[in-house]
Amino acid sequence: MGMVDSTQTPKISAGRPHDVIIVGGGLAGGLIALALHRHAPGCRFLLVEAGRSLGGHHRWSWFETDLGAQTQGLMAGFALNGWDDGYDIAFPGLGRTLPTSYRSLASAEFHAKLIAELPADRVLPGTKAAALDAGGVTLTDGTRLAARRVIDCRPFKPSKALSGGWQVFLGQQFRCDAPHGLTRPVIMDASVDQIAPYGNGAAYRFVYVLPLSPTEVFVEDTYYADEPRMDGELLKVRVADYAHRNGWHGEVVDSEAGILPVISGGDFKAALAEVAIPGVALAGARGGFSHPLTSYTLPFAVDNALAIANLIARRPDVSGTELAAFCHRRAKRHWRATAYYRMLSRMLFEAAEPDKRVVVFEHFYALQGALVERFYAGRSTWPDRLRILTGKPPVTIGRAVRALFSSGKPLDTKPLKMETPA
Ligand SMILES: Cc1cc2nc3c(=O)[nH]c(=O)nc-3n(C[C@H](O)[C@H](O)[C@H](O)COP(=O)(O)OP(=O)(O)OC[C@H]3O[C@@H](n4cnc5c(N)ncnc54)[C@H](O)[C@@H]3O)c2cc1C
Repeated sequence: MGMVDSTQTPKISAGRPHDVIIVGGGLAGGLIALALHRHAPGCRFLLVEAGRSLGGHHRWSWFETDLGAQTQGLMAGFALNGWDDGYDIAFPGLGRTLPTSYRSLASAEFHAKLIAELPADRVLPGTKAAALDAGGVTLTDGTRLAARRVIDCRPFKPSKALSGGWQVFLGQQFRCDAPHGLTRPVIMDASVDQIAPYGNGAAYRFVYVLPLSPTEVFVEDTYYADEPRMDGELLKVRVADYAHRNGWHGEVVDSEAGILPVISGGDFKAALAEVAIPGVALAGARGGFSHPLTSYTLPFAVDNALAIANLIARRPDVSGTELAAFCHRRAKRHWRATAYYRMLSRMLFEAAEPDKRVVVFEHFYALQGALVERFYAGRSTWPDRLRILTGKPPVTIGRAVRALFSSGKPLDTKPLKMETPA
């Protein structure tokens, strides 16, 4: 948390306290604001975002089956890219089209929709919170904003209480000189060299491709790597090579990059205690709401936004402490429900050699389409779980057993600061 200059006299903002202040207008915070606006109309909320725009600079994608019927409603109205003819995957020994519909939302569209739908006086972009507490938020210029409830949606904070590895990626959007010819996303093309995002080592690597229009294609080079490191220039060359090999020529019109945690275990209570502020609710990736293996948060952010808005609509007098406890209970439930994916992360990072990790995914993608859907949605059944683990494993039994009981590598290394690549 940032420090407030104690010699500065706090500037108290006039008026009665806000019903809710949401700190962090990224995916989680922006969706909570939208859900409050739509489902708790009397609620005077304020969304405080440090950046100039809401949602940062990247795109979020998800399978349509990740969201239930009610939760899909919250995403209605955003200008999305959508594909209803399934998606492709490619591995050295497997190529397949799976039937699930896919969706993608660019942060520019997220920002535009929120700015258009939320009342202007409920959104404060370009405003950084220095300190949060149960009674409100103090901004970096010393202004004090009082609130009956505060929700902390600032970014995920690496913690030595958690263990695992990293998902490292860089994507570029090309405007091609001619139609690229793709009609479906390629969610994983792992037929590429299994090399790390830096140096000469190995890592699980795949390329992710989204045909955004007949002439625009987004190509992302992705790695499951042991270290939170990326050689951005090298990845740009690999992306350009991939585009070139597929005959896609043109200019780069947009880029994104990320280094996200892949969680394989740890002490969740201790990790939450590092970021928790008494009486302040925690949401988003910071509050533990992510898929341990894919690092995706969108389905959980949508669920949480609706649950928080419904609670406040039902009980307008719910206190900040009760709201914090409500989010904490949901986070603990989410942690328990995702134990299986953390075990798979351990298998991936600890039992399989980096150059053999591709076989773990190849085995997975050969399974039934509905099982793959449930996996991405974080809703694998017990038969699914058994099925994923059966078959010829790419790891020795000894290493698998050691990985099962290992405490893993701490996730406390701060990822390199990511600039949006030019
Ligand atoms: C490049 C990239 C691509 C991704 N793609 C996907 C995807 O396709 N699907 C998916 O489900 N997930 C994806 N993720 C993972 C995850 O969903 C995102 O990281 C998601 O944005 C996390 O949401 P969040 O709200 O928890 O955090 P963020 O979106 O990071 O939002 C946190 C916000 O808090 C703001 N903030 C920080 N400090 C302060 C402060 N002191 N005061 C006020 N504001 C502050 C930040 O500016 C930021 O806007 C991606 C992540 C990245 C980085």
